[in-house]
Amino acid sequence: MRKALTIAGSDSGGGAGIQADLKTFQELEVYGMSAITAVTAQNTLGVQGVYPMSTDAVVQQINSIANDIGVDALKTGMLFSADIIDAVSQQITEYNWRNIVVDPVMIAKGGASLLQQEAIAALKQKLIPLSLIITPNIPEAEVIIGMEIKTKEDKEAAAKKFIELGAKNVVIKGGHDADPLETMDLFFDGCEFAYYSSKRIDTQNTHGTGCTFSAAITAEIAKGKKVQEAVITAKDFIQAAIEENISLGNGHGPTNHWA
Ligand code: PLP
Repeated sequence: MRKALTIAGSDSGGGAGIQADLKTFQELEVYGMSAITAVTAQNTLGVQGVYPMSTDAVVQQINSIANDIGVDALKTGMLFSADIIDAVSQQITEYNWRNIVVDPVMIAKGGASLLQQEAIAALKQKLIPLSLIITPNIPEAEVIIGMEIKTKEDKEAAAKKFIELGAKNVVIKGGHDADPLETMDLFFDGCEFAYYSSKRIDTQNTHGTGCTFSAAITAEIAKGKKVQEAVITAKDFIQAAIEENISLGNGHGPTNHWA
């Protein structure tokens, strides 16, 4: 059994964060494990509270997994603080883990901050250089790279900057593209650009989309797929999950992991 770990925040509403990651791991038939960085009180209406774990608690969870079960691939999601990013980066180095998927989670769709402002430097300096692939959306890429991304050329320039920061591969997701009909993801491995387009689905139930996509990439890498193949499979998975979205509660429902 291949084993995948998510180092991320808990979403009590079950649509994003570690809950989305573990559901995705299960669906893609890898053994899922979690190290929780923060607990959020959350539902389809938004984030009502954020309760970070101590850095020690995060480190201990990862040590417990590493010293017994082992990890074939891991993803990071909500990391919240520079301290947690520093500690997790150090552990990734100590355990010599290579299959690292970094989802640079910053702000929930409702506006709640999931990463402290001063943690962005740690993300750039410590974690991105360890990543096999980083999966920013356009607003996250704009913050990390420090440029506006409006055109295809901008996306390609930003992708190059992620490789300069030390990521081995990058996928800049097109969910925030201006085009009302189509979204265009850009994959770059440092050599060639590849574009993957999909039909834009008209729904408000997109909660957890980014978590689910990066978890699917992680699962496929854990199973031994090459990075670009993992991205292609994850893209199909997330497209189906958005199409089959679930109406829950009174706000933004989640994508459907059983699609
Ligand atoms: N809550 C947690 C714990 C998350 O990790 C994320 C996203 O990564 C979110 C909420 C945001 O979910 P969304 O912006 O898809 O609604």
